[in-house]
Amino acid sequence: MKNENLASEMGKKDFLDNVLEHNPHADLMLISRAYDFAQAAHSGQKRMSGEDYFQHVLNVAYILSGMRIDSETIAAALLHDVLEDTKTTKEHLKRDFGPAVTAIVEGVTKKIALRTTPEDRAENIRKVLLATIKDIRVILVKLADRMHNMRTLKYLGQEQQREIAQETLEVYVPIAYKLGMYRIKSELEDLCLRFLEPGIYQELKGRIAKKKEEREKEVKRVVASVKRLLDENSIPAAVLGRAKNFYGIYKKMLSRKIPFEEVRDLSAIRVITTTADNCYKALNLIHSRWTPILNRFDDYITNPKPNMYQSLHTEILFENKPVEVQIRTLEMHHIAEEGIAAHWRYKDTERDRQFDRKIAWLKQILEWRSTESAKDLVESLKIDMFKDEIYVLTPKGDPIHLPENATPIDFAYAVHTEIGNHCKAAKVNGSIVPLDHELNPGDVVEIITSKDTKPSRQWLKFVKTGFAKEKIRRALGISVEDTGKKRWEVLTPAEILEKIDAKEIKPSLLQTARCCYLKIDEKPVGYRAKDGHVIIHHSKCENIKAVPEGKLIKLSWKEEPKQRTSLMIELVDRVGIFADILNTMTAAMAKVESVNSKATRNKLYVSFEISGTGNTEELVKKLKAVKGVVSVKVA
Ligand code: MN
Repeated sequence: MKNENLASEMGKKDFLDNVLEHNPHADLMLISRAYDFAQAAHSGQKRMSGEDYFQHVLNVAYILSGMRIDSETIAAALLHDVLEDTKTTKEHLKRDFGPAVTAIVEGVTKKIALRTTPEDRAENIRKVLLATIKDIRVILVKLADRMHNMRTLKYLGQEQQREIAQETLEVYVPIAYKLGMYRIKSELEDLCLRFLEPGIYQELKGRIAKKKEEREKEVKRVVASVKRLLDENSIPAAVLGRAKNFYGIYKKMLSRKIPFEEVRDLSAIRVITTTADNCYKALNLIHSRWTPILNRFDDYITNPKPNMYQSLHTEILFENKPVEVQIRTLEMHHIAEEGIAAHWRYKDTERDRQFDRKIAWLKQILEWRSTESAKDLVESLKIDMFKDEIYVLTPKGDPIHLPENATPIDFAYAVHTEIGNHCKAAKVNGSIVPLDHELNPGDVVEIITSKDTKPSRQWLKFVKTGFAKEKIRRALGISVEDTGKKRWEVLTPAEILEKIDAKEIKPSLLQTARCCYLKIDEKPVGYRAKDGHVIIHHSKCENIKAVPEGKLIKLSWKEEPKQRTSLMIELVDRVGIFADILNTMTAAMAKVESVNSKATRNKLYVSFEISGTGNTEELVKKLKAVKGVVSVKVA
């Protein structure tokens, strides 16, 4: 079904021409087949905007083709909604387009299509991220999909707009940033601001428009002067004015607590030259002609950002006004704009190794969080991804990447778990600092370890990285966060093996599965591999779904030795209060092992040693509800 009235409609030939223009080696046959397939599959479906649904997938493919992405990804972009929104089956897709395209489409297909609760949304994000680890192209399609959905967000209801914009800002913007995709990142940010802070967005837009002419004139003068200077010194370069995105200005206002008028460095230019050497030459020339502003120089060429961004940054005073200057080569420029997508293009041959390293952070986050619920995962993703990164140095000079305000403990765990677990003291740039000291970029950090030192609960209060938190918790054996929020107990493969009761199977034959993770109260099940090993899976693991019930081996958890818990109850004495407390405990299956009481002038404390209760948190809640109980503390 074609709607002839749509101006945005692009014919097939236009689209294929566009693909070819960006990538002369594109597999047009594949893309053309995907085009026809998707158009037929979505035929008759409409978007909220009234447009044919097919226009959405076409736009997503168009965004990616502009980044000169490979043909399989473009085909997958065209097909990205057929599994979710049409009757097409996975098998059909595989037959027609092969396993790689199918895997990408599957990766972006929502697990829970009717997303309603935050848990469902989180589960969908987790699924995309797990698929991304297998094939980075999944996230490229997802980001392009989100980009087009954000561009057309105005057609949705207000509540949905906010929800989607919030999720975009919290999850997809940091991912785009981490992958170095600045162009996508800044457009997404501006769109988020527009829907999350419509008032501020409109005001900024108005103010920026008002000053636009004046600023453009100013930028033109800077551009001309810099260009002349470089020409005179035979440095081949293009000098361009650069518009800053709204969100960047907004963030600056927030972080420096200043009004719009005082956001001074609105003028920005960019110098694009041929080699790194010329970048430094250009910088020197610019610095010797105009006064550089102190502490505003960053050398991301020698020290690229973890997302592979490279450039020289400086700020100069031009006619007494600060101007931001970025200097880079053309290749650096492409990588800066498109991040990992550009890398794909440049480093085609060694892309696997390169990509592996580029998404190491994602792997690391997901590995550490594998046992958390999807919602917790997304929560901690936000913490780990949102922060700006700094790098500090080991005494040997190796850079370690950490979030802003990270502490020596974060550093210690980033270097090695054992160093973290035995961290006794820290030196920064040669001087001893407290363990909660906030590190600055470029600090040289040395950790002093001692065999006798162990992690302390206190550390949890100031560490900034998710992985340090997780490792400290693990070392302390705590599964419940200080906030009282229940966290699943994290089990390492060794702990699983130790805790599994496999009846007649030799313990040496047991292995943990790599595909699924078990929490202590979830059902394990065994599957005998060809080599005789029994692999322990989660009973709901996708990979054993197809195995007939009879071929699975029953497993259970060993009974835990009874653990004792001490409760300290502060109470106001009244008749029958002891009976009420004991009844509450019995109802919770807790057995009282010993009781002690202590009275101060106006307070009465009773401490109980109990065993047998599975859920201390629940018990504490119930005890607090008993009349006369003032507080309950778990010792
Ligand atoms: Mn879509």
